[in-house]
Amino acid sequence: MAEPKKKLSKTRTNRRRAQYKAVISAVTLCLNCGKAITPHTVCKYCGFYKGKSVKADAPTKRIVLDQENK
Ligand SMILES: [Zn+2]
Repeated sequence: MAEPKKKLSKTRTNRRRAQYKAVISAVTLCLNCGKAITPHTVCKYCGFYKGKSVKADAPTKRIVLDQENK
């Protein structure tokens, strides 16, 4: 099996690994309930996608936001 010719120093390894960064996932707000959701997916809280209900068990009408329930 192929082997590296020289041992990489700790500095070189750590310098390479310093470029690895955590990626923050994209988040948009649901048009219906206003909760933070993944873009291009059905809202898991109210079952709406692009302002329309697409879940069978979800309510077909838009939810009127109630400030007291928050
Ligand atoms: Zn929603």
